[in-house]
Amino acid sequence: MEKPKTPRSAKMPRASAAQAKTPAGATPVSVRRPKPRRARIPYSAEEIHEIFRRFSIQRPEPKGELEHVNPFTLLVAVALSAQATDAGVNKATRALFALADTPAKMLALGEERVRDLIKTIGLYRNKAKNVIVLSQKLVDEFGGEVPLSREELVTLPGVGRKTANVVMSMAFGVPTLAVDTHVFRIGNRLRIAPGKTPDEVEAAFLRIIPEEYLFHAHHWLILHGRYCCKARKPECERCVIADICKSLEKTCDVPAPLVELPAQVV
Ligand code: SF4
Repeated sequence: MEKPKTPRSAKMPRASAAQAKTPAGATPVSVRRPKPRRARIPYSAEEIHEIFRRFSIQRPEPKGELEHVNPFTLLVAVALSAQATDAGVNKATRALFALADTPAKMLALGEERVRDLIKTIGLYRNKAKNVIVLSQKLVDEFGGEVPLSREELVTLPGVGRKTANVVMSMAFGVPTLAVDTHVFRIGNRLRIAPGKTPDEVEAAFLRIIPEEYLFHAHHWLILHGRYCCKARKPECERCVIADICKSLEKTCDVPAPLVELPAQVV
């Protein structure tokens, strides 16, 4: 059989100009690699502080909208919420969590019953499977408890970095920033934490959010995105940061009155 030819691009690269000039036996000249550039953002530190100060006045105690009774049910609810609304997940999990609020009870319930209880949620077959495998892993490897660290959380089936961050923040009070669709959009639309991937947006937000606002920032950004800076059309006339916002999609410069809103706006 004819051996496949190695494509040109896969061959060993030629020596760089710097290496080529290095005399034999001499220490090679280290070639300076440019560091990946961080996008410059059009906000001053004062403006960023003011944005989060206003969010904190609007919603002093923001709350997530996924119903849960303990870290395990939160973990399951977040895992079920991928490509589904929180309201839709809550509808299904009320009955599920009444029957099974621990990994052991979830295993006793069994995949078929779980599937039946969550069938109103998108991708319910896969999700039911994941809930059972996840419960099994928690029982086998973590004594039936939800682990605290991100490294351990992401080893659980159906749990990615976003879910891990939500659980760490809401269940254990660790200040992290989970980037969901709203947070991702706000970071890029406002040009405040731009990035091509959720990880880039997370890192960009973590660089700029003042420490005292970090704990609630995730919920503030989600709620701002869900109810004001909406995906299809931002409602800038209702926005408390309209005077500071530097979005190219902004339609109004006058900030809405800064008043406290219910923790969960529906
Ligand atoms: S002014 Fe408009 S675009 Fe800017 S954050 Fe507010 S709603 Fe979003």
